[in-house]
This record gives sequence, C-alpha cells and structure tokens, in this order.
Amino acid sequence: MARPWFFTSAVHPRVRLDQKGLASYNRSMHTPEQLVIRPPSEARSLLVRTVRGCNWNRCLFCGIYDLFGTPHSMRELDDVLKDIDSLREIHRDVFTTAFIGDADPLSLPTEFLVEVLTHLRKTFPSLKRVTAYGRASSLWKKSPQELKDISAAGLDRVHVGMESGSDLVLRFQKKGTSARQLIEAGQNTMVSGMELSYYFLLGLGGREMWKDHVAGSITVINEVAPHFVRVRRLWIHPASRLMEKVTTGEFTEQTPEGTVIELRDLLAGLNADRTYFTCDHANNYLQVAGLLGTDRQKMLEEITSFLALPSDRREAYYRSIPSVI
Ligand code: SF4
Repeated sequence: MARPWFFTSAVHPRVRLDQKGLASYNRSMHTPEQLVIRPPSEARSLLVRTVRGCNWNRCLFCGIYDLFGTPHSMRELDDVLKDIDSLREIHRDVFTTAFIGDADPLSLPTEFLVEVLTHLRKTFPSLKRVTAYGRASSLWKKSPQELKDISAAGLDRVHVGMESGSDLVLRFQKKGTSARQLIEAGQNTMVSGMELSYYFLLGLGGREMWKDHVAGSITVINEVAPHFVRVRRLWIHPASRLMEKVTTGEFTEQTPEGTVIELRDLLAGLNADRTYFTCDHANNYLQVAGLLGTDRQKMLEEITSFLALPSDRREAYYRSIPSVI
C-alpha cells in the first residue's frame, strides 16, 4: 500500500512544483497569518486575517485575546493581499466559504475592506459566502452607503456579538455599545444586502439584572429582526475581569435553571418571524432551533416540557453539560 504523502518527503499534493522541484509556496516566502478564533459555523472556511486582536478588548466577560496573548494591532493592506495570494498557492481554489478576522474587521476603513474583499473574491472565485465578525459600534459608524459598498465588494454576513439588548447589562459588562446602536446598526446592515447574525449570551445579566437582560434583548431583536440569533451561555473564565466582580459580590452567576428560564422568556417575547433562532453551541443546556415564524411554539413547548421534569432529573442533566466558552 502506498504511504500517505505526509509520511514521505513529498509535498502536499495540492502544492505545485516548478521545474526544479521547488514548491511554489516556498518560493513566495510569505506565510499567511492565522486567526485566533472563528464562529463554529465557519469551521470549514478559508480564514483570512485582516487585523490582529480586538480594538475594544474591554468586555468584562471576554478576555479571549488576552488569553491567547494577542494585543490589537493593524496590518498593512499589502500584507493582507499577499496572505490571500499565498493561501491560494497553498490550497488552490477549493473553498466555498471564507471568514475574515480577527475580532472586528468592520472597524477598518471601508476602502481597505473593499480592496481585501475584491482581491479575495477575484483570487478565490469558487467562494459562495464570505463572513466576518463586526462590533455593533463599528457598523454604526459606517454610513448606509458604506455598508452597501462592503456588501457589493463581497461580504455576505456579519457576526455581531450583541450579547444583550439591555443598556444596564451592556454598561455593566463594558460592552462599549448600547441598545440604540444595536438597533440602528442592525437595521442599516439589514438593508445593506448583508446577512446579520446577532449573538445572545444567556446569563450575562447575572441573577441581579436577568429580567432587564431578557426584556432589552427582546426589544432589540424584534426591532432589527436579524437573519440569525445565535444563543450561547455565559461561562466565566477564572482569570476574567468578570470573575473579579463575582469575588467582590458585584455580580452573581445565573443558575443553570435560571438560564433555561431566560431562554424561555426570551423566546416567548420574540415576534421577528423571519429570524432563524438557534442554540448552536455545545454549552447550551437546551439546543432548540428553528424559524421564529413557524417553530417558536414548538421550541417553547420543548423548554416547558423540560422544566416540568422532576428536579433531580433536571439537576443531573445540568451537571452533564460541560461549561466551556
Ligand atoms: S467580546 Fe468581542 S468586543 Fe468584547 S473584548 Fe471580546 S472580542 Fe472584543
């Protein structure tokens, strides 16, 4: 049986050799930079780094870029374009989706972003979808025309960490945005041609602010009616700034059952019929998903049935779900 290419001195079959037997990506001497994180839905995507780390980096609950030792810094446009060329040499045009990072490429000047997207689309013609993370405050600073230009250049979807629609919670967690920004930026994005994915974080209001957390989020989601609402559950990293607030008694972690009740109350208040609602992360206790217009009732029934189980079964179930980011 022939040995796989990676046990031999052969190069990866996707890498072309020139007449001297040199792999073309070695000749270019340019190594593309790697991203720190990407959404689960981009697991099979081509990853392109346009900026390093997070330009905000103050959210109490986050600290992801500190954890990976990645401070925020800008990249030269030329280097990003060279990354794209190298990625093409290494992989060829095999990807149908791409994700650009790190935390907030939408904070980049519009012309920069348009050049990157145009080059990416030209270099990888098989791409059917290109997405990016974006802060609501960055989207809010772009004019409606700029958002349309970015869409026209090839960005199909923005993943936005809404986290909460409550000003109380957003201020406490130092999110650097407001319900008004989330609504205005969201509405402008919705008419730009791009798809919008809002991420909601169960438990972010703790036991003190949870009702406001749910009520404010219902208002924002109903006003914007984003294409997707993706639900995650707060996990407090021991080294995070939020854990310091837990220690000082300024924040009390929501109970597991409290997060399920938050999920139920959130769903009960939503009327954005064309929004796809999904708990598509492993740390959610209940993985309900569906189109709000047709599946909301079914999702609510699933939650209600779970809450009607004997308490020892519910507690055992909570203990079986790992707490992870
Ligand atoms: S949650 Fe997003 S905006 Fe806040 S610090 Fe983390 S990466 Fe930056």
